Amino acid sequence: MLEDIQEILLTEKQIQARVKELGEEISRDYTGKDLVLVSVLRGGVVFLTDLIRAITLPISLDFMAISSYGPSTESLGVVRLIKDLEESINGRDVLVVEDIIDTGLTLSYLMRNLESRKPASLGICTLLDKSVRRIVDMTVHYKGFDIPDVFVVGYGLDYGQKYRNLPFIGILKPEIYLGENVS
Ligand code: 5GP
Repeated sequence: MLEDIQEILLTEKQIQARVKELGEEISRDYTGKDLVLVSVLRGGVVFLTDLIRAITLPISLDFMAISSYGPSTESLGVVRLIKDLEESINGRDVLVVEDIIDTGLTLSYLMRNLESRKPASLGICTLLDKSVRRIVDMTVHYKGFDIPDVFVVGYGLDYGQKYRNLPFIGILKPEIYLGENVS
C-alpha cells in the first residue's frame, strides 16, 4: 500500500493530537445535552472510534450508510440511503461525524434528511475539509484540518476499498486512479 502513496499529508501524531482537541471541544459544548453521534459508513468510522474516546460525556452512537453514484474519486451528490438510523433523533442533540467534506453535496442530502426528523440541534464534525471545492454552502461546527484539492486515502478513507487501515492520511499517486472516467 505504501508504494501507492505520493506524500503523507497528515501524520498519525498530527491526527491523534487534533482528534483529542476536537473531543475536548465537543465535551465542553455538549455538557448536559443528550448527544447522539451519527456516523456515515464506512469512511467515517476510524475517525469516530478515536473521537468518542476523546469525549468525556455520555453519548449514543448511531450509523447511516449511503451510496453515491459516479466515479469513485468524485461525488455527484446523487445519494441513496442504504442503512438508516436505529433510533429516533427527535428532540436530541445530533452531531454528524464525517471523514471528509468535498463539494458538500453528500452531506447536504444527509442534513436535509436528518433535519426533517426534528432534532433539538444538528451539528457537523468533519476530520477533513476540502473547502476550495465546496458547491453547497454549509456551516461546519468542528473541523480537524483544511486540506487542498488532492485525493487522499488512509485513516478510514479508501480508494476501491483499499488503504482504509493506513494510520496516516496520504495523497494517492494519481497514476493509481488515472484511467478511471473522472470528469
Ligand atoms: P462530497 O459530496 O462532499 O463531494 O463528497 C464527500 C464524499 O466523497 C466523502 O464522504 C468521500 O466518500 C468522498 N471523497 C471526497 N474527497 C475524497 C478524497 O480525497 N479521498 C477519498 N478517499 N474520498 C473522498
